[in-house]
Amino acid sequence: MCCFYFIIGTCWASFLTASAWRLLYQPHTFFAARSYCENCQHVLAFYELIPMISFLWQGGKCRHCRQRLTPLFLIGECLGGVAGLLIYRLPLVQQPLAGILSACLFFCAAMDCFENCLMPLWLLPFGAAAFCCAAHLYWLSAGAVTVLLYGLHCWHNGLGLGDVELILLLALFLTPSQIWFLLFAACCFALLGFLFLKTKQQQPFVPYLLLGYLITLIYF
Ligand SMILES: [Zn+2]
Repeated sequence: MCCFYFIIGTCWASFLTASAWRLLYQPHTFFAARSYCENCQHVLAFYELIPMISFLWQGGKCRHCRQRLTPLFLIGECLGGVAGLLIYRLPLVQQPLAGILSACLFFCAAMDCFENCLMPLWLLPFGAAAFCCAAHLYWLSAGAVTVLLYGLHCWHNGLGLGDVELILLLALFLTPSQIWFLLFAACCFALLGFLFLKTKQQQPFVPYLLLGYLITLIYF
């Protein structure tokens, strides 16, 4: 059964990453076109769309034009599999909410990695779905987290408003100890990223929130 959750996790992560890419760069083909290579426009066969396996089998390149593919898809699919395994460990009643919050984070992390942007509109469907599954909303801790992070946003522009809105959504559905632990873990990952990636560009923060959420799923 855990293999099933792993495979579903990789498929969902692959779908959400591809959806984020299409919404950003090819919104008119979102519902219409099949997946294709961005470089040679070759329509991909089903065996070129298998999460993780296709990327590894093709050596990280398009099979037709040998253009190198972004490793973001592979990383996302691996993490999706891990998220699936962690959700499998949860009691059945908690799994839908954890799945929706994970999906929201995967989608927003992909958006943030591709274009360093996050729009509130994209959070609405995930927020509505999570609202339907949640047994309890944590208004007080969500308010406290939002005031703190909005103050941080105004004081230093490093934290985007989109990040604050996403964290507000998470804080509404996670217990106070979970959200503070998640933020702490995300900041630790961001610090490691800052030390090891050594890039001068502003780094997206949502991928670190995603990692923080996965660590939270392990400990809570
Ligand atoms: Zn190609």
